[in-house]
Amino acid sequence: MTAYQTTVGVEVHVELTTRSKMFCPCRNAPQDLGENQAACPVCLGLPGALPSVNREALRLGLVAALALNCRVNPRLWFERKNYIYPDLVKGYQISQYAMPLGEDGWLTIPGDSGEEKRVDILRVHLEEDTAKLIHANGETLVDVNRSGAPLMEIVTRPVLSSGREAEEYVRKLRAVLVYHGVSRCRIQLGEMRVEANVSIAPPGATELGIRTEIKNQAGFNHMRGAIEYEVRRHAEVLDSGGRIRQETRGWDDANQKTFVQRSKEDAHDYRYFPEPDLPPVVLPANWVEEERSRLPEPYDQYLASLARHGVSPADRDALSRNDALSFLAAAARPEPESTPRLVKRLVTDVFGIINATGVRLEAAKLDPENFRQAVSLQTAGRISAAGLRTLLEKLYREGGEAGPDAARLGLLLEDDSAAVLTAVETAIAASPGMLAEFRAGKVAVRNALLGKTMKALKAGGKTVDPRQVGEVLDRALQS
Ligand SMILES: [Zn+2]
Repeated sequence: MTAYQTTVGVEVHVELTTRSKMFCPCRNAPQDLGENQAACPVCLGLPGALPSVNREALRLGLVAALALNCRVNPRLWFERKNYIYPDLVKGYQISQYAMPLGEDGWLTIPGDSGEEKRVDILRVHLEEDTAKLIHANGETLVDVNRSGAPLMEIVTRPVLSSGREAEEYVRKLRAVLVYHGVSRCRIQLGEMRVEANVSIAPPGATELGIRTEIKNQAGFNHMRGAIEYEVRRHAEVLDSGGRIRQETRGWDDANQKTFVQRSKEDAHDYRYFPEPDLPPVVLPANWVEEERSRLPEPYDQYLASLARHGVSPADRDALSRNDALSFLAAAARPEPESTPRLVKRLVTDVFGIINATGVRLEAAKLDPENFRQAVSLQTAGRISAAGLRTLLEKLYREGGEAGPDAARLGLLLEDDSAAVLTAVETAIAASPGMLAEFRAGKVAVRNALLGKTMKALKAGGKTVDPRQVGEVLDRALQS
């Protein structure tokens, strides 16, 4: 088989985390509502209904464009993309075409050569999602909750050289978008959808080969498998003297192969034209600069900053692999000095829960704010280490609020400073021999004294964090 050069470009769609839809006040929570519960004349496309642009969607798009190092177009407009499909209730989609929100950005990934590779991003634009079709019992039903939900499209230049690089790029892109709070990117819920185009050409060729597009893969490994399959298929066709047909293909995961969905002859002419119901959008320079100044430190830099907080390479790696960096950053934002404590609890308790439940962090009910509050309860000595684990398990599975849930689960330790001090003093006073041994350097005696104190407290019906007792004991032993 000839050694061809592979060229891959990737288009990613993500749903933005706004409260309302892109052009109407309907709730943007397609997963949380019953079918067809978020609908109005605008997102149903009823005659005479007028859209208006969601400012928060615009802001999140701006954040993404800035985080992806794009040039922001300060004056932009929306356009109608016309086509007919049952999930497109208006018969057109409001999108951006000639003037996208952001252009000429980049992200870096570990390239196939082993060096850092810069992936050029052609454009970032905003548009609206379509409704969802549900195929069941030979019928097709429409759920319009998603119709008009804010959607962002991010397109790379064809600069990736393999399925592996495409996977690296999409994982990095996802991490950056989640880190910046632009989208939750839950792939299993369709919040992030990936399409790739693939072509091959003989080494040194000045033009790219004919490309095929692979639509909407369900996961990163599916995308990589589909790209690698296409590269092999193209090479086989070219080697046998055939021609590649420009077409769109789907991925059959069960059989690990792509299949034709539609050929170029069926390609739509979308007849784009500026959306007449929306005025052009002008982004004031001071607003763009304000958003730029409010960005958290860049993702790569944040990763490096964890080293300065004393987070070990093994823990940083575990955080990356478990997609927990953005979660950690969000949890630590109100008090960055808590980072090492939060990392420790994430890596030991939360990753333990992930392993036990099989539920990934992005799908869990535990949010960063309640995670931070739960950890501070323990830091403040209000719950024990075992209590924290119980609380985190509850929040992880069912959600809730750290403080009230700790109380409801009976995890709050009584504030028994006086009782603890008395118990410590009694234990020491009752064991003058042990105190002498401790002072002579036999430090193990300290744990025996701790045991005695805990036993006495328990006998008195007190639930106290051993750590709190230990601290009081240490102070007493040193005085
Ligand atoms: Zn609506």
